[in-house]
Order: sequence, then C-alpha cells, then structure tokens
Amino acid sequence: MLNIVLFGPPGAGKGTQSEKVIAMYGLEHLSTGDLFRKHLGEGTELGKLAQSYMDDGNLVPDEVVIGMVKDKIATTIDPKGFIFDGFPRTVNQAIALDGVLNEFETSVSGMIALDVPDDELRNRLMERGKTSGRSDDQNIEKINNRINVYKEETIPVANYFDKQNKLSKIHGVGSIDGIFNEIKKVIDSY
Ligand code: AMP
Repeated sequence: MLNIVLFGPPGAGKGTQSEKVIAMYGLEHLSTGDLFRKHLGEGTELGKLAQSYMDDGNLVPDEVVIGMVKDKIATTIDPKGFIFDGFPRTVNQAIALDGVLNEFETSVSGMIALDVPDDELRNRLMERGKTSGRSDDQNIEKINNRINVYKEETIPVANYFDKQNKLSKIHGVGSIDGIFNEIKKVIDSY
C-alpha cells in the first residue's frame, strides 16, 4: 500500500494537491478537517464535541481524532493506500498512526511537507475565506492562532518522520501543476 502523509501549515495547499494525487494514484483521501466538517454538518455528537476547538483554531483532542481515523481506516474496503491530509498534527497522533497501520500490516511510505511563508498563508486563507464559508478562514486572529498551533504542536511531527528518514520537503509556492510535479517525483521514488 502507498500511504502518504501530506504535511504543511493551514493554507499550504494540502487539499488542492491531495485531489491531484488521488486522481493520479487512486488513493483514499483521509482529511481529518473534512471529516470533522462532515460531522459538524450532520450535527453528530463528534461534530458537537469538535466545534468549539475548530471555531477557535485549536486542535481537537488526540483521542477523538485518533478514534475517528482508526474508524475510517478500518471501514475502507480494499484501499490501494491513503493520503493523510491534516493528520497527524501531534506526535501522539503520529505514533497512533504508525500503530494502526502496523495492525493492517502496512506503514507510512513517506511524508511530503509543503513549505510556504507565513504571509503567503495569511493571504491565501483570507482569500479562501471569501468563498469557503469556513469561519476559521475569515478572521485574522483565528488564522494567526492556527499558524501558531502548527508551529508549536505540529512541526514536531515532521521531526518524528525525519528520524525515520521519511521526510521530503517541497517549496509550496508557485503553480499548482509545478508543485504537483515535485510531489509526483517524490511519490514515484517510494
Ligand atoms: P483543517 O481543515 O485541516 O484546516 O482542519 C480544521 C480544524 O479541524 C483544525 O483547525 C482543528 O480544529 C481540527 N482538526 C483537523 N485535523 C485535526 C487533527 N489531526 N488534530 C486535531 N485537530 C484537527
């Protein structure tokens, strides 16, 4: 199985690039942000639990996220592999991901980290907020909080995969197709 962690700060282009990777490699998309938004829209207990964290741009507690991811992996029939988008966001989540993939006799093939300067992220997220309908995209304080949470809690996840020699960094500014081309080179090297 091909299991890719697409990593980067909010607004780095993970969702956009995931779609292109899925179209080319036939992987299952596992975006924890999308799953939470689906629960929110359906008014489930999980959605209600996640809402206050998401509204403020803080991380939903690990046990909630990990339970949701395990469920998604366990209920996907005959996957070619997964692209993890917005997960793992803490080292505990990364350890849990390694554990659950191990249960299914597979592992993370590699992490691809998109590198984008903070000012560019702020501009992209404010721009996306005009059409995404996401309250966390429309408010500069929430955006700054999400970038800070990324730096404090999520960057250590890149070190975690770097120690396993699984980290590839890509410059995430430029044309969507140009960036995808770089991602493709990394995936084809796995
Ligand atoms: P995203 O769509 O990836 O930007 O996620 C939107 C929000 O969902 C985040 O700001 C968090 O509140 C929550 N969220 C998504 N993925 C995770 C995760 N792996 N761990 C904790 N919270 C998450």
